[in-house]
Amino acid sequence: MNVSRRSFLKLSAAGAFAATFGCTDRDRPVPKTTEHQPFRTELKSGTETTTICPFCGVGCGAIVTTATINGAPKIVNIEGDPDHPINRGALCSKGSSMYQIANQPLFSLADEPSGNNGRRLANPMKRLAGTNQWTEITWQTAITEIAAAMQATRDAAFVTPENRCENMYCLGGAALDNEECYLISKMARALGIAYLEHQARI
Ligand code: SF4
Repeated sequence: MNVSRRSFLKLSAAGAFAATFGCTDRDRPVPKTTEHQPFRTELKSGTETTTICPFCGVGCGAIVTTATINGAPKIVNIEGDPDHPINRGALCSKGSSMYQIANQPLFSLADEPSGNNGRRLANPMKRLAGTNQWTEITWQTAITEIAAAMQATRDAAFVTPENRCENMYCLGGAALDNEECYLISKMARALGIAYLEHQARI
């Protein structure tokens, strides 16, 4: 980028002004489009907390703004942290959608008074072979059925005396944190799974 002496001085003056008067992200004008930002008032007065994007290993920083809505704490905004050294305020499309983990994109208290994203699945769904219908099942049922299917698959072609399981693979995802990866890889190795990988490496 070519920076003339004049523009360099302008940029330096703007930086000095921001440093002197403590310009923060909160000083930026709040978007005027109420349709996309229903919590404009709360955005100004809410509590800001820094966090890390959960989606991939880049580890971008974000600011979560929470406020009390209808007597309960609620996330009213999530945006990139301009002070974070990795992303300096920017978020990719996945990170930009963090708000939707908790809220519907165009949130309306009238539509969802609980404050939660009513479109999120809260229980496992099962589709039986040959049907096009999904049925809600309990977590206990899902865990029991998955465990039984894994054991049957493993037992069908377990390699001895090497104790290798070659007919299943385990693929970690970027949304997993270190501790989850540790536990999942431990379990995979305990099962003898030879093909153990992580999405970030492939
Ligand atoms: S998913 Fe995007 S915003 Fe989140 S850490 Fe990765 S690069 Fe950053």
